[in-house]
Amino acid sequence: MPAPLDILHATFGYAAFRGRQAEVIDRVMAGQHSLAVMPTGAGKSLTYQIPALCRPGTGLVISPLIALMHDQVRSAEAAGIRAAALTSADDNRDETIARFRDGALDLLYVAPERASTEGFRRMLDRAPPLALIAIDEAHCVSEWGHDFRPDYRLLRPLLDAYPDTPRLALTATADRHTRADILTQLGIPEDGLILAGFDRPNIRYAISPRDGLPKQLAQLVKEVEGPGIVYATSRDGTERLAAALAQTGRPTRAYHAGLDPAVRAANQRAFVDSEDMVMVATIAFGMGIDKPDVRFVAHAGLPKSIEAYYQETGRAGRDGDPAVAHLFWGAEDFARARRRIESEVEEARRPGERQRLNALAGLVETAGCRRAVLLAHFGETPPPACGNCDNCLNPPAAVDATVVAQKLLSAAFRTDMRYGLGHLTDVLAGRDNEKVRSLGHDRLSVFGIADAEELRLVKAVARALMARDALRADEYGGLGFGPAAKAILKGDAELAIVLPPKRERRARRASAE
Ligand code: ADP
Ligand code: ZN
Repeated sequence: MPAPLDILHATFGYAAFRGRQAEVIDRVMAGQHSLAVMPTGAGKSLTYQIPALCRPGTGLVISPLIALMHDQVRSAEAAGIRAAALTSADDNRDETIARFRDGALDLLYVAPERASTEGFRRMLDRAPPLALIAIDEAHCVSEWGHDFRPDYRLLRPLLDAYPDTPRLALTATADRHTRADILTQLGIPEDGLILAGFDRPNIRYAISPRDGLPKQLAQLVKEVEGPGIVYATSRDGTERLAAALAQTGRPTRAYHAGLDPAVRAANQRAFVDSEDMVMVATIAFGMGIDKPDVRFVAHAGLPKSIEAYYQETGRAGRDGDPAVAHLFWGAEDFARARRRIESEVEEARRPGERQRLNALAGLVETAGCRRAVLLAHFGETPPPACGNCDNCLNPPAAVDATVVAQKLLSAAFRTDMRYGLGHLTDVLAGRDNEKVRSLGHDRLSVFGIADAEELRLVKAVARALMARDALRADEYGGLGFGPAAKAILKGDAELAIVLPPKRERRARRASAE
């Protein structure tokens, strides 16, 4: 059997293993089952490619997306590895099956729904023993994970049919719960978990409320040279932002599932080859793209979870050079996400989804180090300040806004929890306008109870209250209580808000005058 290190040198041309690659490979070589949790860019592919080349037989790789498989096959072939994918999109299936049966493949990629069929099992039984079974994007097996795919659950019988074949589950994003779930679901012992460091020290994290997004993004594009990705939240948004950003003079393209496949492929190609292009895309873009010199990743709206945020921002700076990850968010992002959970998500999965959203709110709201929150989420114990995030570089002014929050919540309550922030602000400010008067809201105890200083904070307070689910917006923007409202009203919980830099400057100027 060739030694892994020799294959690393001879086939891949790399000098040494990185991080915990060697450990993972040693386990697979010894025939043990493992779960490797390693950040994007850590080099997970090598951990199954090398054992597949060293051990007799083909390495079977379960992978969720056809596009991803094809990228993997291409890059494996480029390294001189005999690889193929067996998918409905490939019309050379018979040839692939013949190569597999003849032992002429080092790696065979399949989707979980195919791998779990009877027919596939019969094929395996007639072929030489497998070198290993790798399960890529293994978080898909867990309902706790952010991307649950039921097909992954069907893999267990296949794995158990070959108990002596080492299985290697791989993922970039799995919190404690998800990790435990993957181990159970895939029958991997607890000591098979290899958890690599999550920190990406070269990425500078920044998070700001949206306030004229096209301008904010144009500013970012001006400040950060080199290729960048802007994640928009809709296909429409993709095109609109791309048009706006093209005005900065940077080559800009859009990418989303609604584009003609040829256009999409051309845009992706152009981005990969470019040294200064801005790609405005939906989150599907970036998976499986090996572009190490992405200098920034911007989010135009809230990602789905901290895991998703980490994975998407992780596409920046894979070469290790400085890169920026800037998230822009608005209160409506949380309102929409909360509504989706309550209306579209299965009852049993709601607590998990709520917890995920709250974790995200914690990251967005913190006045402390972003990286500390991020790494703590993945179970690491980071230093309290990283020196390379917005809050570390520019400590924000945090003010105690509990009283303003109580006034706003009272105003929502007194007006039957169905008016938007504009009207509630009018009531708090004591503005005697037509709507206020016709509703009789000028006679409420909350009419005019906020002073000018407090009124300036109302918008940021509403945002923070929505993020932590004390306020909920219905689809018309009407504000009502969420479960966290009571504690704040009763004074059992406090609300500190972080002043966005611009307002902070204005406030400082005002106090200096
Ligand atoms: P992941 O799947 O973990 O995101 P990849 O397997 O795509 O990461 O690897 C990321 C990049 O790092 C690839 O270009 C890969 O060739 C490179 N790489 C992996 N291992 C090593 C190593 N030991 N030394 C140098 N480069 C490596
Ligand atoms: Zn920091």
